[in-house]
Amino acid sequence: MKRRHLAMTLSKLKGFPEPKPELEQYRTPGNVAAELLWLAHSLGDVEGKTMADLGAGTGVLSVGACLLGARKVYAVEIDETALETARENAASLGIDCIEFINADVSEFSGRVDTVIMNPPFGSQVKHADRSFLLKAFEVSDVVYSIHLAKPEVRRFVESFASENGFRVTHRSTLSFEIPAQFPFHRKRLERIAVDVYRFVRCRHGEAEAE
Ligand code: SAH
Repeated sequence: MKRRHLAMTLSKLKGFPEPKPELEQYRTPGNVAAELLWLAHSLGDVEGKTMADLGAGTGVLSVGACLLGARKVYAVEIDETALETARENAASLGIDCIEFINADVSEFSGRVDTVIMNPPFGSQVKHADRSFLLKAFEVSDVVYSIHLAKPEVRRFVESFASENGFRVTHRSTLSFEIPAQFPFHRKRLERIAVDVYRFVRCRHGEAEAE
């Protein structure tokens, strides 16, 4: 599958039927999901791997990972309505390698090869992304995540990763489109800048050396 085809396929999936602002339910746009997944795929972090998608929402990242050859994806999502949409999206493409888990991300246990996630950015609940990063760093040695491209967010993300024994190996900045979906949205389409990160666990002694 080509990258452009992946982005297009993912952008056609169903969105949140009733987006909930307090959970920051913004579907991951096709271009952003494809960037994250393509990077992961090119670095050997998808094919044949066991993965977790934390805050899976409508399943965009989980579905994309399966299309690129993941062996199994745990899609963890607190909102059952969103998870129902994720199930429909997977079924519409005949994908059956996703295990849907209706739970808070903090409750997920197990080990995976790779975590992929588009966590809440923390605009409604401050530091909502912290529990996602913490869980990701607990269950995997390789983590892909999306955060706001702002200096203070970068500082937080990078220092939090380092405190948890991880380092940033890749970061790319992209435009993320949010169509108006909540009453507090003034514009028809909001464009924000986001960073797609790849983190890997430092080998023993590496963190101190840096
Ligand atoms: N990647 C998804 C959703 C991103 S939005 C997509 O593209 O559709 C972030 C998601 O995290 C939302 O679906 C929200 O319901 C979920 N979420 C927020 N807090 C959560 C928590 N504590 N545990 C699990 N999921 C959570």
